[in-house]
Amino acid sequence: MVQDKREARIDEARIEAALDLGREHDAQEVRGILDRARELEGLGEADIAVLAKVSDPELLSEVFQAARDVKDRIYGNRLVLFAPLYVSNLCGNECVYCAFRARNTEVKRRSLSQAEIACEVLHLVGEGHKRILLVAGESYPSEGFSYVLRSIQTIYETAKGHGEIRRVNVNIAPLSTEEFKELCEARIGTYQLFQETYHRETYSKVHLAGRKADFDWRLTTIDRAMESGIDDVGIGVLFGLFDWRFEILALMQHIRHLEERFGVGPHTISVPRLEPATGSDIASHPPHAVSDIDFRKIVAILRLAVPYTGIIMSTREGADMRRETFALGVSQISAGSRTNPGGYSGEEIADESQFSLGDHRSLDDVVRDVAALGYLPSFCTACYRVGRTGADFMDLARPGQIRSHCQPNAVATFQEYLEDYGSKETRAAGEEAIKKTLEEMQPSLRLKTVKMLNHIKRGRRDIYC
Ligand code: SAM
Ligand code: SF4
Repeated sequence: MVQDKREARIDEARIEAALDLGREHDAQEVRGILDRARELEGLGEADIAVLAKVSDPELLSEVFQAARDVKDRIYGNRLVLFAPLYVSNLCGNECVYCAFRARNTEVKRRSLSQAEIACEVLHLVGEGHKRILLVAGESYPSEGFSYVLRSIQTIYETAKGHGEIRRVNVNIAPLSTEEFKELCEARIGTYQLFQETYHRETYSKVHLAGRKADFDWRLTTIDRAMESGIDDVGIGVLFGLFDWRFEILALMQHIRHLEERFGVGPHTISVPRLEPATGSDIASHPPHAVSDIDFRKIVAILRLAVPYTGIIMSTREGADMRRETFALGVSQISAGSRTNPGGYSGEEIADESQFSLGDHRSLDDVVRDVAALGYLPSFCTACYRVGRTGADFMDLARPGQIRSHCQPNAVATFQEYLEDYGSKETRAAGEEAIKKTLEEMQPSLRLKTVKMLNHIKRGRRDIYC
């Protein structure tokens, strides 16, 4: 594909040079970088390369502390919750790490009918979810891309009692500009797409056939999405395919490109690590496996490098790693997930799933754990519904104003959850977390939040500021 000059591209030589420079560092230099990061202005490639090389335990703990400080100042104790909804595992690509790849005969293929999607949604809203991430392989049933549009409509239209989905994010294959316009009109929240690896040679080795084998088609996808009016996008790397240091610098190049071209970068970054997948050797033996300590480093460095961009942690990771990374910078987590189509209303079936999960706990268990750790589980969808997205969101986020919207909305949606779905134990932990959050709020914000809480306790739902 011939690239428009303005579309994303990765300068590998510049990354290699930055990593070379990053080889030499002393404690003073690292501390200088951390001081700058605390000013919440983000970091450049050279700084990130230096942080990526830090291995001294004392210095590393200072990196982690700086990330905690930044996370706390921007996001407070909020953690937004969502669930993925796999609608289809049909796929025409041959990504060697994924169970859904076309030639994998070990996986049973299934795409859900609209009635089956509604069944899945009823299950998810019955647990208390308000946000869904729609996921699919890159091949749709006979109706083609309109299957995705119909599925989104079904999700929004399926409700029961207080249960409803208020925001549908999507993680589906790259689209044309025309298709992105239709996706935008379907009222999606975030369009999410992971480059998997930004290293061109590695990319070719792990994407053997199908449309996804074209590196540039994938890399320029977010440009097409944003050109089509989607201003809320998520990007990510599948860690384990190539050197993580290279990947985070390339990710930064992608982010800076979007900021320069569209005036706003991605709303979220996802950090999946390769997990075992049926019929994939590489998934169980990643060529560049990321250790747990490096994984924490990745989250901390991203938090410091792009302080206002959300970081998503999925249930690929186990409960302990998830707990640790909340403090380092994660702002959104999935919970109670299944990665096989029909997995919520039916059961978790290994040979229909995309990969194995590290965290099998229910939403209620995760919410209780998160609240007991001092975080505030949030089901808020307000920004997207009042149009605070893209540059508008960043304008609010930068001076820290977003917190005055987010804290009350987080508390209100959490109270809704506790009233409608929380178990007795979770309610107790949740009420305590809300009490503590209110105590720490500025008086005017507390007053506003208490008013919202009183409305919810009296039976009103879906109130936000
Ligand atoms: N099919 C679309 C695509 O590839 O962009 C979207 C959905 S795909 C199911 C979502 C993501 O799952 C991929 O982008 C990839 O990063 C991730 N994934 C695939 N295999 C995985 C594995 N074995 N472990 C962890 N994540 C995996
Ligand atoms: Fe298909 Fe996506 Fe899996 Fe690749 S990662 S095989 S495109 S579902």
